[in-house]
Formats: sequence, structure tokens, C-alpha cells
Amino acid sequence: MIDAGLSGKEITTRMGLLGVSPSELLGIVLTHEHSDHIRGVGPLARRFGLPVWTNLPTLEAGKSALGALPHWEPVEIGVPFEIGDVWLDPFSIPHDAADPFGLTIKSRQGYRVGLATDMGFVTQLVRSRLMGLQGLILEFNHDLSMLLDGPYPWPIKERIRGKLGHLSNEDAASLLEEIASDDLEWVICAHVSRENNEQKIIVQKAQGALNGKSGLLTRPSLASLFVASQTEPTPLYGPSGRNLPVVRYGEEKV
Ligand SMILES: [Zn+2]
Ligand SMILES: [Zn+2]
Repeated sequence: MIDAGLSGKEITTRMGLLGVSPSELLGIVLTHEHSDHIRGVGPLARRFGLPVWTNLPTLEAGKSALGALPHWEPVEIGVPFEIGDVWLDPFSIPHDAADPFGLTIKSRQGYRVGLATDMGFVTQLVRSRLMGLQGLILEFNHDLSMLLDGPYPWPIKERIRGKLGHLSNEDAASLLEEIASDDLEWVICAHVSRENNEQKIIVQKAQGALNGKSGLLTRPSLASLFVASQTEPTPLYGPSGRNLPVVRYGEEKV
């Protein structure tokens, strides 16, 4: 599991809706210490005896939220690590946390998925790490005009749109258009603001990017698109498309 921002109880319930249980997890990877990523990490780790992979600055900054962990596995940004039968490769992201990272995850069969949320802007490093993926979970945090016209206090608006804040739909869509290749099978638009965004705007921007609206793509991408919700679990995605049967670790994959 990567990050656990809801309560341990809520995550257990939502996993149950997908037919899985936290007891089947091999561990939790924590990308940074913000509450929407860390809240359920300590409770789940203790309840199910799960190791937590994160870097030292995040562990220290998140100490009180995490509580005592059964086991800590140190992560170093830029150094790939193995969990079960996948390799995870952490890369730095520009965000106002101690030492936050995004990830690419690669299976033994070479299937590659990227996870990049909580970014103030798209760096060259992020762009290069997300090239040539089969699956992508990308932040579409806010619509800039909704954020600016919306109810948040000005300092929070400044934080969200700042260089260490969150990606707007526009920024995410232009990144998506740059990295969409024929190999890309699915995209999940994630970390969506409830106050400052709308599903239909995200779909329009993201689909525009996959259609190659500014001529960066030689032909439209056929990748399927899904906008994640804060209130419901996202269907499972993987090599054969969406709504995969659950494959438990150690079982033969078909
Ligand atoms: Zn954050
Ligand atoms: Zn976040």
C-alpha cells in the first residue's frame, strides 16, 4: 500500500468493498508526512504487523502521527527497493513536506506504473521518470479559476497554487500529453480537490491531453481514464485493464 490518509478503519472497509484485506498487504510505503497520507499508517501497521517503508526525514517529521511502528524499512530517494515481486523507484517531488517522493513501480514482467501526486510543479526529473509507463496515477488537484474564486483563505490558495503545493488540471494535462505513449493503458486522475475541482473539467482536460490536442502526439492515446473520488474506492487496474480479479501475492498471475 502506498500512503494511508484515511483512518485505518475506513481503509479496511474500503478495501473490503474490493474484496481485499489489509492483512494481505506486504507493507506500507509512506511518501510524505502530511495528514492526508499518514493518518492510517501507524494504526494499520500495528494492527496488521506491517513494515513501513519511508525515508528518515519523513519518519522524523511524522513521528507523532505514526506512533510506534512494528518495523521501519529505510528508503533513500533515487535508490530502488523491492517489496514482494515489484521494484519501487522513488524520485523527489516539489512539495512542502520534509522529503517527499513519487514512485514508479515495476513488476518482474516489466509492467510499469507511476504515482505522482502532491507536486507544486512538474520538474524535468518527474517528467523523465513518468515516460513510457503502462499505468499512471497523476494528481489533478484543482481548477485554477475555481481555486481563486473559491472559499479558501488567501494564504491557503497561495500555498496550493505555489511551487511546493499541488498540480492544477492544466499542469497535469500538459504533463500527461507529453508522456502519453502507445504503451500507456490507463490513467487515474487522483488527489482531486472537493472544493476546487469538478470531475467533468478533469475529464475534459485529461481526455484532451490523451487526444493530443496540441499536436504533441502522433495519434490519440487509447488509454482509459478514471477520475478517483474521495468517497469511494477506485476499481482495480492492471495489465488487463480495469476491474481486475484480485491477484493475491504468491498466486500465479494469469
Ligand atoms: Zn502533501
Ligand atoms: Zn496530499
